[in-house]
Amino acid sequence: SDVGSQKERVVTEEEWLQKWEMGNIGFHKEEGHPLLRKYLDVLLNGRSGLRIFFPLCGKAVEMKWLADMGHSVVGVEVSEQAVKEFFSEHSLPYCEEPVPEISGAKMFQSTSGNISLYCCSIYDLSSSIVGKFDGVWDRGALVAVNPCDRQRYASLMISLVEKNSSYLLVTVSYDPNKHKGPPFYVPESEIKSLFG
Ligand code: SAH
Repeated sequence: SDVGSQKERVVTEEEWLQKWEMGNIGFHKEEGHPLLRKYLDVLLNGRSGLRIFFPLCGKAVEMKWLADMGHSVVGVEVSEQAVKEFFSEHSLPYCEEPVPEISGAKMFQSTSGNISLYCCSIYDLSSSIVGKFDGVWDRGALVAVNPCDRQRYASLMISLVEKNSSYLLVTVSYDPNKHKGPPFYVPESEIKSLFG
């Protein structure tokens, strides 16, 4: 597991915004992720009406899916285009408002109130702003974070979850010398040391 070649790579927020503008979003899946279906029971653990967090959410259709099941969904995404496309592609009316604690940030909320998407960097969030979550769906998030920010990301995520929460993490396994990422290759040993 030689991850040396990816360690220094940095993708800026500007580059992510450009990917959205260019429609360069091969990571987006219209059908919903089969692994969320497969492990839904693990995420819910028999509970209903959960608060579920989608870090680096893009316009993941799973947000609509979980909200329709009666859960309350919160996402964070730097691209305002992505957030607006999410609501328009699902024909969901929404309102937008500034986030007083974060300069320049906006929160987009479905009129029904059960989906709230923060348009800002995830590093601007804290539990005092978004509260704590019972469940996390981390797909295209840890693996999209710049390798130099992984520790910061993991510490933040740990601070955003309740004691009895479930965290589903999707990673990709491949030879990091053959692809520069994202998605980055995060070895299992590193995941263990990041999340304990
Ligand atoms: N989880 C989504 C999107 C994965 S791609 C899915 O499964 O489809 C990663 C997303 O993170 C991109 O939409 C990018 O715009 C966003 N992003 C990158 N850096 C971010 C940051 N620091 N804070 C919030 N969003 C970020």
